[in-house]
Amino acid sequence: MYKCSRCGYVHWMSDLPEECPFCHAEQENLLTLDEASCRKIENSLSENEILVNVLSRLNEISYELENIFEEDHSLIFDTLFKNTVEMTQMIKAELEKKVKEGRWG
Ligand SMILES: [Zn+2]
Repeated sequence: MYKCSRCGYVHWMSDLPEECPFCHAEQENLLTLDEASCRKIENSLSENEILVNVLSRLNEISYELENIFEEDHSLIFDTLFKNTVEMTQMIKAELEKKVKEGRWG
C-alpha cells in the first residue's frame, strides 16, 4: 500500500502509480506504508464501511425529516430530527479520529 503525503489517499494495489490518482501529486509523494499501518487500515475496514453507510442513510433521513418538519412540529419529529443531527455529528467525529489514528484507507 502507498499513501499520498499530500492528500492522504491510500493506494491499495501493489503497483506504484505514476502519480497520485486522486490529487495528481508526483510519484515521489507516494510513500510506502509499513505493515503495521496496513494492518491498522485493514482491521478498521468493515467498521469504516458501516459508519459511512449509516452516515449516508442519516443524511437521507434528516432530509426527509426537514420536509415534514416544515409543516409538523410535533414532539416525535422534533426528537427524531435532533437525534439524527447528534448521531451525524458523532459519526463525523469518529471518522475524523480514525483518519488521525491512521485507521483509514
Ligand atoms: Zn494525493
